[in-house]
Amino acid sequence: GCLAAARPLRMEDAIDAIVAAEHAKRPVTAVLIDEVQFMTADQIRQLAWIVDELKIPVMAYGLKNNVYGTLFSDAIVALMALADDFQEIKQLCHCGRKATMILKYDRNGEAVRSGEVVEIGGEGRYVSVCRPHWTAGDIGPAARQLLAQPVAAE
Ligand SMILES: [Zn+2]
Repeated sequence: GCLAAARPLRMEDAIDAIVAAEHAKRPVTAVLIDEVQFMTADQIRQLAWIVDELKIPVMAYGLKNNVYGTLFSDAIVALMALADDFQEIKQLCHCGRKATMILKYDRNGEAVRSGEVVEIGGEGRYVSVCRPHWTAGDIGPAARQLLAQPVAAE
């Protein structure tokens, strides 16, 4: 098959119209979405329309949870309601348990429990952890070791 070049999607873009137009020119066999958590709920409903009306499979990748332990965005809420199937990409916590949560921490290794979900150009550091270690705010020895290393001057 032929893989089309990826294109950035803005929040105001109608993904259903974009895919329908491409599909009219040349059959589209699949739509792949990355960072789906940044879409709008409307765009998620448009993805469902692409699947149901154009009969084109859509695969979307992204984060389910934000660092505060809730569904990342309205898009994820819509996706949880509308998607036919989910597959978890397995990650491990520093303790070996399945990592289902994301912990945000500061330069001292302390968990950050407030602030914006999406931080543009921020100094946030993130680590995937299991729920008990998310609750405890424990970033684990590897992340702590990285923090302890001196930062090279530029
Ligand atoms: Zn753990």
